[in-house]
Amino acid sequence: MHSMEKTSYGRSQSRLRQHNINVVIAKIKQDQPITKREIATKTGLSFAKVNSISITLTNLGLINEIGKAESGGGRPSAIYQINPNFGYTIGCELSHKKISTIIVDLNGKIHSKNSVKFDIQEGKESLLLKILDSIHIEIDKSDKIKQKIIGIGIAVAGLVNPQNGMSTPFPHLVNWGDIPLKKIIEDEFGLFCYVENVANSAALAELNYGVKKNADNILAVNVGSGLGLGIVLNRSLYIGATGSAGEFGHITVDENGPLCMCGNVGCLETMASTTSVVNRAKSMLDKQVVSSLLTMSDNDIDRIDFKMICESALQGDKLSFNLLDEMGRNLGEGIVTLINLLNPQMIIIGGEIFCAKDILLQPILTVVQKRALEIPRKKAEVMFSALGSNAGLMGAVIPVMEHFYSALPKQISTETD
Ligand SMILES: [Zn+2]
Repeated sequence: MHSMEKTSYGRSQSRLRQHNINVVIAKIKQDQPITKREIATKTGLSFAKVNSISITLTNLGLINEIGKAESGGGRPSAIYQINPNFGYTIGCELSHKKISTIIVDLNGKIHSKNSVKFDIQEGKESLLLKILDSIHIEIDKSDKIKQKIIGIGIAVAGLVNPQNGMSTPFPHLVNWGDIPLKKIIEDEFGLFCYVENVANSAALAELNYGVKKNADNILAVNVGSGLGLGIVLNRSLYIGATGSAGEFGHITVDENGPLCMCGNVGCLETMASTTSVVNRAKSMLDKQVVSSLLTMSDNDIDRIDFKMICESALQGDKLSFNLLDEMGRNLGEGIVTLINLLNPQMIIIGGEIFCAKDILLQPILTVVQKRALEIPRKKAEVMFSALGSNAGLMGAVIPVMEHFYSALPKQISTETD
């Protein structure tokens, strides 16, 4: 009886220590570089506890001392950070035309980046092989990094079920059915894998690595061939009842508008996606509108893509500029709805449209200024992502890191008990 009580007491002590380790790691991650004294003050844990946990984490190699902080008169205190090279995460993004991969360290620094294009007509087997190959190539780049990979995060430009890692069919990818991506990746590499929608990943990246790490309510608008929206409310990702929240591209803006891939007409996506702008450019050129796009594409209008439209607009081409200006106003209309509906602190725009940011921002802001309700508008900052086109990739690795950190205290406790 006595020994049972002791065991139960021991177990709850061990759980408490695990919890405290989590608290210390979270504080270092958030506020690094930081002293032990600051950790104690900010977490409410005693200095002795913080000191003991710091020693454990330093011995493990997860944190390291990177210098001394000047203190008012007393001995300078050591300052700590997460040791970036303790572990690495692979991020992979499947967009509608390419597969991109990165390796980042624990502090979010990108060590390597790569991408391969594919054709949307390719079958799912071929595409899956390309995804696996891309990850293999990334992993095999460095022996030093290879041994320390903690997992693989995948961001998909379509609907996914993050609970089981299934990527569901989406109209932009031909032949892409229900794919158990998580299982396929875990079986292939023997590493933890997390699958997320790319707009949600981008929102997580803005929350963790974006310009204002203290913003609690963030909307990440991802614009490419489709329009995605990642919603962070009170610092948590909101995914809805079945994980599909944020299908912002399919709100109706013109009931007489063009047919959308979803089957409805006049969705925002048909007026503000990169594909819609490319199609508009092509149809204007068919009507003999003068534009430098013709020379840029060697008179082959099938070669025109969104990047070409960006470049010609920045060089002063009137058609391209007007198309982007119109795209900006359409996006602005959608963003007005988001501001009125969700009262966010920040709306951060990214994705394939990033190359046109200098042209798009003004019409977006003009529409927001004119049409959004005054109270939420005054609070909402609308801007392009500081993470450039990397936001989706940077966000893909975050759930993997969270999984790694959440499992760590248990491992430490088991080893030392
Ligand atoms: Zn639609």
